[in-house]
Amino acid sequence: MAWNDIAVVLHPGIAEHIMPFPRPHLESFETPLRVEMIRRHLRTRGIFKHVRVARARMATVEDLRRVHTDYMIDTIRIMSDLGAGEVGESAYASPELYRSALMAVGGAVRAATLVAKEESRHSFSVMRPPGHHATRSTPMGLCYFNNIAVAIRYIQMKCEVRRVSVLDFDDHFGNGTAEIFYSDPDVQYISIHEYDYDDYGMGHFSETGSGDGEGTNINIPLLEHSTDESYSLALREVVVPAVETHQPEIIAVSAGFDSHYADPVGNMNVDSSTFWLIGSTVRGLVESVGARGSFWVLEGGYNPLVLGPCVEASLAGLAGEEKPVFEDQVPREVSQGLLEANRRIIRRVREIALKRTHS
Ligand SMILES: [Zn+2]
Repeated sequence: MAWNDIAVVLHPGIAEHIMPFPRPHLESFETPLRVEMIRRHLRTRGIFKHVRVARARMATVEDLRRVHTDYMIDTIRIMSDLGAGEVGESAYASPELYRSALMAVGGAVRAATLVAKEESRHSFSVMRPPGHHATRSTPMGLCYFNNIAVAIRYIQMKCEVRRVSVLDFDDHFGNGTAEIFYSDPDVQYISIHEYDYDDYGMGHFSETGSGDGEGTNINIPLLEHSTDESYSLALREVVVPAVETHQPEIIAVSAGFDSHYADPVGNMNVDSSTFWLIGSTVRGLVESVGARGSFWVLEGGYNPLVLGPCVEASLAGLAGEEKPVFEDQVPREVSQGLLEANRRIIRRVREIALKRTHS
């Protein structure tokens, strides 16, 4: 198991969708520069010599329909043709929107398919716009179509995959993905996020799924300014045992890097070490549950200068490599009170999650 078991999914043409807002508007941070700087970093570091590089294909309307309503799909297409206008909260149209959004979904589908067909052990779609806030019927929060949800439905339909675990480590709660799979017993959704009631008023640990999906939604809401120690504890105490209980055939990862301390949007305090640890943990889980592999889809992360090292750290973890040392890994002050509060939250989530996931 090494670098050559990993595929990185890209598209040589840059998806050009840009929302017309100046800084410091939230919308101004979600730009093509994000993926360009990741590609540039991976190229400079020689990573493309070791991994498989795969090309994203544009998703079809049929793919989108497995998750989204026709009304939503038509609205995004029509507004994109018009070239402007609001399609949802913090989600605006541009002339390139529809094509960019279809390419981002297509990247996720390609990444998922490579792993589902066992052509690669792990894959990472470096595409944008992100997707995890988009619900079945509503674009929002810089997201239009829910890339990872469409990819999961695709491999369930085409590649004989049933059980999937989603790990979402974006700074923000993936309300869209949680909603789409909330009553689905086959798709487990685990989110580590900054708990913020303003963030669509969702993400509390009491939200555990409904109907047949009861127990398959696991929220780990950490406090603002949480550090690497709390993420590490959440992975060990909740994520690992919960995924081992669910026994997925594939692990899908919503990879958001906006919890980095240098991110202009998120408010957490982790560095690239945490993203290496997540990669390494997912690699271990794929082994321990005997899954086909994991596919990763880029979500947030809005500081173009740290995105490259963060993605490389994740890939190194997946490849079974030692943690790479980057300049962002500097000692930072840790509040003992915050650590203790997070310990209590994680303990509570563990009690809830492990009691309910054995069905
Ligand atoms: Zn985010």
